[in-house]
Amino acid sequence: MFRYFSLNASLRQTYGERVQKIPLDAGFDCPNRDGAISREGCIFCNPSGSGSGMLKEGKDLLSQWTHWTEFQKRRYGARLFIGYLQSYSNTYGPIEKIAHTLSRLENLPGLAALSIGTRPDCLDDAKLRLLAAQKEKLNLNEIYLELGLQTAHDETLTHINRGHSVTDFKDMACRAADLGLNVVAHVIAGLPTPSGREGLAELLETVDFLNALPVRGIKFHNLYVCKGTRLAKLWKEGGYTPITLEEYCLWLGEALMHLSPAVVVHRLNGDPAPDELLAPEWAGAKRDVHNAIRTHLEKNHIWQGKKHEAVDGPPVHFAPDHKEHRA
Ligand code: SF4
Repeated sequence: MFRYFSLNASLRQTYGERVQKIPLDAGFDCPNRDGAISREGCIFCNPSGSGSGMLKEGKDLLSQWTHWTEFQKRRYGARLFIGYLQSYSNTYGPIEKIAHTLSRLENLPGLAALSIGTRPDCLDDAKLRLLAAQKEKLNLNEIYLELGLQTAHDETLTHINRGHSVTDFKDMACRAADLGLNVVAHVIAGLPTPSGREGLAELLETVDFLNALPVRGIKFHNLYVCKGTRLAKLWKEGGYTPITLEEYCLWLGEALMHLSPAVVVHRLNGDPAPDELLAPEWAGAKRDVHNAIRTHLEKNHIWQGKKHEAVDGPPVHFAPDHKEHRA
């Protein structure tokens, strides 16, 4: 039984086959790192973990594409790919730089869609129009705009030194959706607050906030402590306690039940890079975390949107072979 509307299902329905995401490092920076807003970064940000570093190793976008697509072809037999501008904030800086980066994606073999990770304060109308125009220019099915929100609580955003507000996110998500961009929100469970830590109530408020916006996708993350971050210092001093796996499963299950069944779930949990994780230990065991989440959903008869819809089971469109949305 498919208990949530996964990205995999959404892609299968659209393309009729497996589509793999390809991470790309285009050499962008972040205003919360380079001094424009601060040099501290978000409290959880690992500066070396936020980028793949492939560009610095001398691999341009075409080399990165070839490297990862060849691997995915061998491993999964994939033929179609989503180019994912992932490292740091990929709309930060002059529009000419962004346009130049996008022009280098023309003619990448197998490119079916584009995903652009950024912050709401690194966008304006001209940049949004440039991104939206790539759908026709690169002959793509979809342009995903991955926008960091993390939480719908300004007090927490200030505490974690996020450098933008909830209103900034709302404003940019609406303007992006108006131009046809597929907005995907990033959310983190268990963020530190001035009085301790966000809990289930704050996570559900964040989901409710997103349900009311033209947001078509969501990435859930559990907060983990990485080396070299200010969160690591707080954790070592006893000022932050990460959530347990049991708490995360419980919270995620509740969040899914509150989430609109139309929203595509791009991620269920965070995935630390090798060697960067300090705590909690469980966050590094990706397969075990997925199994624990699936078991929790099954055992408790949880499905996405359960608290919205008066139906007795998951909607049929959660199944990858559901054909209604296929292009
Ligand atoms: S926005 Fe991203 S790259 Fe910038 S400081 Fe925060 S986590 Fe790091």
